[in-house]
Parts: sequence; structure tokens; C-alpha cells
Amino acid sequence: MISEYQIRVLPQQAFNEQSIKDYIARFYALDARTIHAVRVLKRSIDARQRTIYVNLTVRIYINELPTDDEFVHTEYRDVSDKPEVIIVGAGPGGLFAALRLIELGFRPVVLERGKDVHSRKRDIARISREHQVNPESNYSFGEGGAGAYSDGKLYTRSKKRGNSEKILHVFCQHGASVSILSDAHPHIGTDKLPRVIENMRNTILTCGGEVHFETKMTSIIVEKDRVVGVTYQTTKQTPSLPQQAEPHFQNKGEGSEATLEGYKSARAVILSTGHSARDVYRWMHSNKIEMEAKGIAMGVRLEHPAELIDQIQYHSRAGRGRWLPAAEYSFVTQVEGRGVYSFCMCPGGFVVPAASGPEQVVVNGMSPSGRNGKWSNSGMVVEIRPDDIEGDDVLRVMKYQERLERDAWQMGGRRQTAPAQRMADFVKGKLSYDLPSSSYSPGLVSSPLHFWMPQEISQRLARGFEQFERHSRGFLTNEACIIGVETRTSSPIRILRDKDTLQHIRIHGLFPCGEGAGYAGGIVSAGVDGERCAEMAAEYLKQ
Ligand SMILES: Cc1cc2nc3c(=O)[nH]c(=O)nc-3n(C[C@H](O)[C@H](O)[C@H](O)COP(=O)(O)OP(=O)(O)OC[C@H]3O[C@@H](n4cnc5c(N)ncnc54)[C@H](O)[C@@H]3O)c2cc1C
Repeated sequence: MISEYQIRVLPQQAFNEQSIKDYIARFYALDARTIHAVRVLKRSIDARQRTIYVNLTVRIYINELPTDDEFVHTEYRDVSDKPEVIIVGAGPGGLFAALRLIELGFRPVVLERGKDVHSRKRDIARISREHQVNPESNYSFGEGGAGAYSDGKLYTRSKKRGNSEKILHVFCQHGASVSILSDAHPHIGTDKLPRVIENMRNTILTCGGEVHFETKMTSIIVEKDRVVGVTYQTTKQTPSLPQQAEPHFQNKGEGSEATLEGYKSARAVILSTGHSARDVYRWMHSNKIEMEAKGIAMGVRLEHPAELIDQIQYHSRAGRGRWLPAAEYSFVTQVEGRGVYSFCMCPGGFVVPAASGPEQVVVNGMSPSGRNGKWSNSGMVVEIRPDDIEGDDVLRVMKYQERLERDAWQMGGRRQTAPAQRMADFVKGKLSYDLPSSSYSPGLVSSPLHFWMPQEISQRLARGFEQFERHSRGFLTNEACIIGVETRTSSPIRILRDKDTLQHIRIHGLFPCGEGAGYAGGIVSAGVDGERCAEMAAEYLKQ
């Protein structure tokens, strides 16, 4: 017999399958020996009151065992001899587009400028160790895209729940824990995500698709408003990608690699290059491909000791104790007509150097699956609208972002050390004489962020922090540190596309996709958009 129950229990009663089983048996007067399995269908923590509860929806198997898988399997078939679709970018948008194309009987050919998810790790380590940012392989570029080394938070504000559930099931099929299907705030963790991404790539390859790393799209070839192909540069010689005979040498000198150029024809191109591919935006702008400036939020990363956040959020000096995870928070308010809010919170996580080019300092956050680090961080950002910036240049929000990142680089000592200030000092407009310890491994430099950041950001942030303190006593403290600057919260540009066919408004066969095109904000929504673009590309090719 299978029964479902909704229960509200203490954290220790929700801790694992055995403790849930014991609770159900006692509460519903069942014989524990007859309960052969317990499946958690939904889990959320209610920390609003002093006593913390966990709300669970559970399925109990009495005198029988589950016969079905915990997630829905998607069938991927061989597409070796099927029509091709080029996908530019192997972030969540591109990878989910590729997998969906395989489902639909099309052959994805993925071009990715960065390295595979494991080789990428070395370049990421060099940012902290040597303060060197490889412009093709960093926290934004490489297999898995911007979210490969992240907290791997998988919740989305998207209303299309069905679509986002499919994304979670595909992640499970590729090795993510099934707990992401039940948790109210699911996350995978930076230690687990690379393996999941690698498995997704292996599905693409096994089914006859192609994935080319260190292969950067350099232009989209359009004839009579129709895509006919792309040009690219690559350091990898692959028989399936046509290349010019003569290699070019970049950065001549020791260790320099030959760069080959090539052209690949295509009737459909899914462009999922993410929000950091500024060269792609610039190329499109100079080639008069229709785009518009888009609003974005910018600010700082705020880091507290994790213990302090646990104490505040769980209303207890004992903090999270033995049974609860590192506490999360989410704040939002309005200051002088603009949203001020926390963004991409990483409980028990690290602040990371997320620049994607030279002379930039950009910070972001990531956490391991256990979220067991000493600090908890979150973006603290202020909404900036295109109208807030003078002029009508389509690239003006991106240029504003670039200026702020360059200022942070200068203020941080012209390396990857980041400018930082104690939180209460920032609000009082005081330079910090010293800084608290931090997870940001390249190092921090004390800097008056209240003074040099644009006032429209710094003043709103300071007022926002005061309001958050009213809600959560102890939050505004000099034990916390703000680290500059958090600028890559979404895309500063929208590439205009038809809302039904998802093709660019003028160029047939070009499908601007994911976060970089301005249609997603996060791993799951980029995956959902990738799937939708794949469906529309398949429709287009069938016509
Ligand atoms: C450190 C960090 C932590 C994050 N944490 C989370 C989180 O916990 N949860 C969440 O939902 N979101 C998180 N995000 C945001 C999330 O990663 C993005 O929203 C998501 O990755 C967007 O997916 P995408 O496929 O649209 O673009 P991207 O992931 O940016 O992928 C674009 C890909 O295109 C490639 N590319 C760019 N230009 C070219 C070119 N010319 N030729 C070939 N390839 C190209 C890039 O190398 C990149 O791999 C985080 C981001 C960062 C940086």
C-alpha cells in the first residue's frame, strides 16, 4: 500500500529517512517494520517563529517497495545522420537546447569558447593564485557556462512550473541528487555540478552530437536576412569542423597556440553566449543586429560569518545546531523608486573572483553541496534602468557595468584583490581601518566604497541595509564586509526576438537564447529557454 502524508515536524524528526519513518509510525500508529520505504516529495523549512519546523510531504510504502524511478527519464536517441543545428555556448541554455534537439531528432553541434569543465578549474585557480584572468576560460566562460562553479541554486521565479520541473529531472538523470525534486530551495553545489555537466556532454556525444571546446564563434553569416552559417576560431583541430589550412598564432611566444579559423554552414543557430560575452554584443551592434538596452541590478557582495546569519535567521544563539542547514535570507525593499535586494545568496559559501577579462574586478558567490563554509554571502544590488544612464546608446548599461568593474580593479590595487569595507562603516560613510577575515581568496583591500561607487547605488544600498536591519536585528554589523563589485546579475542587453517563433525579429534561423539574450536569469530559466529555442529551431527546420 502507498500512502501520502503532509507533516510538520521538528528538524531532528525530518533529518533522514529513518527519523521520518519513526515519526510516521508513532504518529499514525503504524508498525514501523511494515514501512519499507519513505520518499520525501516536498520539503521546506519554516523559520518564521522561534520554534523551527520542517514541512514535509512524504510517500510511505507499506509492505512494498517503490517500483518506479524517483525522476522521469528522458529518452535520447541516435541523431548522427539527422539535420544539424549549431548552438553557440555550452552554458545551461546551450546544453539544454542540445539535449532537447536530440529528443526531437536533430543533431546539435555545440561551439564553446572555453575549456571543458575540468580543465577550466586550473584557470579558475590561477585567478586567485596569480591574479591572471584567462579571457576565454574563467568563472563565466567554459563548459557549463556561468553557473558551473556556483551554488547551483535551482529555483526560479518563472511561473511555468512544468518546464522548470523537466530541467530538474534532466539534472537528476545526469547525476544530481533527487533531493532537488523535493527541496523548496534546491541546489546542487559547486563540488557536484561539474560531474553533472560532464554527463550531459556525454549524452550529447553518445547520441551523435558534437561539442567543440576552445572554439569561439567570431561572426554570424547572414544572407538575405537568413542565417547561413558562422565563422569561428579554434585551437582544436577536429576533422568534423572545417578549418582554413593556414594557422594563425596568437600571443606568439612560449606556450602560444595556433588558432585556426573556419566557417560552418548552418540553417539554424541558437545563440546562447551568456551575459559576459561583450565581444558578441559589440559585434552584433556594429553589424546592426537589432538589440535594446536592458535594466540590470548592480552593487556589492555582502559576507557575514555563517554562524551569525544562522543565529539571526533561526532566532537562536545556538545557531543552526545539528539538524538544520546553513540559514538563507532574502531581502527586498524600495529606496527612492528603485529596488534594492539580496541576490543569489550562498549560505556557507565563498565569494569568488568572477571577472572575465583584464582590468576588471567582479565578485560573485558559490557554495559546496554541504554549504558548510565559515561564511554566508549574498549579492546586495540596486536596480539600474536604461533611463538612469544618459544617452541612447544600446550598449550604455553594459558600458556602465564596465566602468564600475574597472573602478573596482583600480580601487582594489590593479590585481584581483577586491575593494572592501565593513558593512556598518559603509552605512556611516567611514573608511574601515581593518577588515574581517573573508572567503575571497585573492584578498581584500580596504576602500571607501561609499565614496567612489556611483551614488545612485551606494546611497540606496546604505538605506536598504538600514531597512534590512529593522527586519533582522544584528544584520547590519561591522562583523560583515561588503566586497565590490557585483555587476553580472543579468544581461545589460536584450537581443530582440519574435515572441512566438523565438527567432530574431529580422534574421530567420537565428535564435537568441538564455540569459545573454535577455530571456533568462539563472540556471533553470536558461535551461527552460534553451529547450524552447530548440523546439522552435526544430519547427523552423521542418518548414
Ligand atoms: C559565480 C556564479 C554563480 C552563480 N550562481 C548561480 C546559482 O546558484 N543559481 C542560478 O540559477 N544561477 C547562478 N548564476 C547565474 C547562472 O550561471 C546564469 O544565469 C546561467 O549560467 C545563464 O545561462 P546561459 O546558458 O544563458 O549563459 P552562460 O551560462 O553564461 O553560458 C554562455 C556560454 O557561452 C560561451 N560563449 C560566449 N561567447 C561565445 C562565443 N563567441 N563562442 C562560443 N562560445 C561562447 C561562454 O563561454 C559560456 O560557456 C551564477 C553565475 C555565476 C558567475
